Amino acid sequence: MVGSKVLVLGGGFGGVQAAITTRAALDSRHEVTIIDQHRITHLCGMNPLLIVGEQDANKTGRSLGRLSNRGVKFLEAHVNSINTQDQKVITSAQTLDYDYLVIALGAQYDWNAVPGSKDAYSFYDFDYARRMRRRLSRLKRGKIVLAAAKPPYKCPPAPFETAMILNWWARKKGIRKNIEISVYIPEPGPLGVAGKEASTRVRNALEQRGIELITQAGVVEVSPNGREASFADGSSTFADVISTIPVHKIPDVVADSGISKGKPWVPVNSKTLETSSENIFAIGDVNIVPSGEFAIPKAGVFASGQGRKVGEIISSRINQSDIPDPYDGIGLCYLSYSGGRSAMVGGKFLTDSGPETTLSDPTVSGKKHKDRFERDWRNFKI
Ligand SMILES: Cc1cc2nc3c(=O)[nH]c(=O)nc-3n(C[C@H](O)[C@H](O)[C@H](O)COP(=O)(O)OP(=O)(O)OC[C@H]3O[C@@H](n4cnc5c(N)ncnc54)[C@H](O)[C@@H]3O)c2cc1C
Repeated sequence: MVGSKVLVLGGGFGGVQAAITTRAALDSRHEVTIIDQHRITHLCGMNPLLIVGEQDANKTGRSLGRLSNRGVKFLEAHVNSINTQDQKVITSAQTLDYDYLVIALGAQYDWNAVPGSKDAYSFYDFDYARRMRRRLSRLKRGKIVLAAAKPPYKCPPAPFETAMILNWWARKKGIRKNIEISVYIPEPGPLGVAGKEASTRVRNALEQRGIELITQAGVVEVSPNGREASFADGSSTFADVISTIPVHKIPDVVADSGISKGKPWVPVNSKTLETSSENIFAIGDVNIVPSGEFAIPKAGVFASGQGRKVGEIISSRINQSDIPDPYDGIGLCYLSYSGGRSAMVGGKFLTDSGPETTLSDPTVSGKKHKDRFERDWRNFKI
């Protein structure tokens, strides 16, 4: 039998898990290659603690070069185009062909969608987060605004988690009475994807901490000096630090390939994560998997679960072994209320009766779970 070529585009949560799972189930005739524009990738989930100086910036990354220990080839290159007709991917380094393709390129930030946001602060990107950390380290008084533009955005709990971490940090520094914290979101309430009860609990948690929440007010502009934000409800506010959650969109290279058929995200079969083209899969933030009135959230735990499933499916096709169980849409994310306590939120997103989700209380052991999750991520166990 001739060996098969499995090509994975993107070395984030989803891509790495797909590559590792596929490789582990194949013999050495077959090739698994992963491509990413960065050798070192960072865990965004560490950004909320990073911006308040409670996370070492040198300990948020992992090197994809280490995947060679597991028999996965890594190519550091930019994916320039995907040609599904000829089964080729053109990168800044070389052109590669494939038998099986996994698209795991995540979501692209559209900084131009909200004028002024590119030059404002953000905690949604590692470099932006480091800049925000420098600003916050000098802040003694004033107003901090966290402002989301429009759904969907990665990790729906992140704006609320970050607001609560800012509250904890300001209290710890003894400056809380001098700091106002406001969160503006486009949705009617926080964390709608996790259900009504979870949404109310998050709303209450913010209120108890003196954090202002303004709903149905997506940010539409930040002034050139970064000190005034305007919102979709016609309101505006001045602040000392305005941090936006950028508009997310499908990466240009994926849209250009035609695989999304002009849709905002790549449609896939929710049981197999396969696109409308046979043996081409799309996993993680780049796809859409409907769940009730929402979709499976854009979070690393789901990207990773989808990567594992796709790895099982591809290897079963190559090995001509039993068809794996369908993708289950199960996943739990963390929502930290401080540097010491985290809750867990999530559940089953693909049951016949709709999503079954819960939000636990924030606990010290929840934070320990989160720390373990981050360690496992660094060691390629997630
Ligand atoms: C502040 C914040 C907190 C979060 N907290 C959590 C959390 O607690 N738990 C959780 O589960 N999730 C969390 N997330 C969400 C999580 O980070 C994402 O959902 C997850 O990374 C998605 O995985 P992915 O594999 O789909 O894409 P990504 O991890 O984004 O990986 C995509 C990869 O593709 C590469 N790439 C993109 N385009 C190209 C190209 N043209 N050429 C080459 N390479 C390319 C990128 O460099 C990147 O490495 C958080 C996100 C943020 C922003």
